[in-house]
Amino acid sequence: MDKKTKIVCTIGPASWDQEVMKKMIESGMNCARVNGAFADPEELDKVKTLVKNVSDDVSLMVDVKGPEVRMNKFGDPKKIKPGDEIIIGNTDADEIYPSNYNDLYTHLKPGQRLVVGDGDVEMKLEKIEGDKMYCTVVFGEVLKPGKALNLPGADYTSEVLTEKDKENLIHSIKTGWDFVSASFMNSREAAQTVKDFIAENGGADSMKIIAKIEDQEGVDKIDEILEVVDGVMIARGGLGVELGLEQVPHVQRLLTQKCNEAGKPVITATQMLESMTENPRPTRAEASDVATAVLLGSDSVMLSGESSAGQYPVEAVKFLASTAMVAEENTMPYVVDSRAHGSTTADALTKAAAEVCLEMQDEIDSVIIVSKTGTTARLLARHSFAQPIILFTSNDFFKRTAMLTKNIESAFVFEGIEHGSEEYNRDNAVRIIMDMAKKEGVVEQGQKVLFIGKTPIDGHGYFPNLFEVIEVE
Ligand code: PGA
Ligand code: MN
Repeated sequence: MDKKTKIVCTIGPASWDQEVMKKMIESGMNCARVNGAFADPEELDKVKTLVKNVSDDVSLMVDVKGPEVRMNKFGDPKKIKPGDEIIIGNTDADEIYPSNYNDLYTHLKPGQRLVVGDGDVEMKLEKIEGDKMYCTVVFGEVLKPGKALNLPGADYTSEVLTEKDKENLIHSIKTGWDFVSASFMNSREAAQTVKDFIAENGGADSMKIIAKIEDQEGVDKIDEILEVVDGVMIARGGLGVELGLEQVPHVQRLLTQKCNEAGKPVITATQMLESMTENPRPTRAEASDVATAVLLGSDSVMLSGESSAGQYPVEAVKFLASTAMVAEENTMPYVVDSRAHGSTTADALTKAAAEVCLEMQDEIDSVIIVSKTGTTARLLARHSFAQPIILFTSNDFFKRTAMLTKNIESAFVFEGIEHGSEEYNRDNAVRIIMDMAKKEGVVEQGQKVLFIGKTPIDGHGYFPNLFEVIEVE
């Protein structure tokens, strides 16, 4: 059996190599993410080629930064110590300035905290003179160029998508990228803005939206955001800075639960194996962090600097995969209560299917689900049981994107049977799928399969009404 948890890897200089990419994919990577803060269309093409040369099944995710402020690439990292003065200017005549804002100084007030990156440096704004912000270092040892500048609590006008984001997004839609991960999503309106932009540019049916929850507002508005988007990333980098590290674990639990209830994939991100950027082995605390994400019900775990700029990208993927597998083996089976989210027929039937799997743990070997877009499969997959879920869906996009969801172990494309043809009947459809599953080697003669599908099976109906235990012939 394969691992049930999925792996997202951020791609950067450390993984811009065909051999490294191949090994990462062979070790269990399911999705390649590119950080839009640095990437341009050329880099997106490069990463796409590296991935597609190895596999068509790995999905592609472009990350857009929206309101995130970034410092310019001012050259070498600067050694700093508490009390040092750092002057942040406004234009490229200054040594340090925000690379994507030219009026930030008009929005901040003395006393503002400026937190760099994931929180390794903190500064305090002392005064503003002209367009210069005079800051003192509160803590930190090195100020690195090009890092995000977090401004907890600040009220600065910000766009959901910058010009650079839009350029990257349009290019990604045109070239077949599967997901956009949108930074600092904190309202229904913000999520809708991204969704509308994608639709206006021809991506309504070919690009899914992952909302990155990075601040308190995003946490507070998770229910309405989930109504618009296809999935969530728990952006623990942003959350740690905005809310304080103490708040991250319970927010992680809350967001995981909300996504599980809604049947939408959730990615746990940032610093999962941070020490592996420089060491071949992780710490015990990191092993525990990965296992905890799995036990809480996360669909995917993510690597950031570990795979984009670290020394051990392949080892990091291997460690995520092996740790996730052990955690899965030790997860007590459970059925998620989806009533909070408002149950539909598909909710109820997939829950019943999960109960059947639990009751018949020793008799049923696997579940085959026919789900046109993968939505019903995701509803089933939020429950936790031992049997693998094998998905038959209607095209390659749904197949790739389903593999961001835990417990869906393999996915195949079944285009359906022509409506009205002689072949077009329930028994035929079941037989064709069972034959395909056997040929693919995911079921064997003598095994028992719980088969969930629709009548008619090619997607003219929209709720699962085929539900039986079949012995593989
Ligand atoms: P990133 O966001 O794109 O900056 O890595 C994730 C996070 O904030 O955790
Ligand atoms: Mn972030």
